Amino acid sequence: MSDCIFCKIIAGEIPSTKVYEDDKLLAFRDINPQAPVHILIIPKTHYDSVNALDEKSAPIVADIMLLAAKLAKENGLDSGYRIITNIGDDGGQTVKHLHFHLLGGVKLSEKMA
Ligand code: AMP
Repeated sequence: MSDCIFCKIIAGEIPSTKVYEDDKLLAFRDINPQAPVHILIIPKTHYDSVNALDEKSAPIVADIMLLAAKLAKENGLDSGYRIITNIGDDGGQTVKHLHFHLLGGVKLSEKMA
């Protein structure tokens, strides 16, 4: 997707603070962190959101969850963390490339919305 900011980060056209990369996934620090640890995990293949997944592509979410747990451990989030994906305008999604927020390093609000 030529106009997708996260595709541009994957392509190296926009700088990011990468914390993990393999052939399928990229993880980098959020530019506007909402917690002491705020990492975005994205698939290198463009999907607009969870809504764009199907039975063939959905296993990427399992890969993302396993990476989130690994990054949480590496970042010392031993007492807990939160994983969020926003979908669509009402869900607060501002970047239309599937991504999961990994948030931690502080006691997070019990409020979800
Ligand atoms: P969402 O609101 O769920 O779509 O999340 C998009 C996130 O991307 C926000 O938390 C932004 O701060 C973050 N973001 C936008 N542009 C960049 C960028 N160039 N590098 C890192 N994070 C970004």
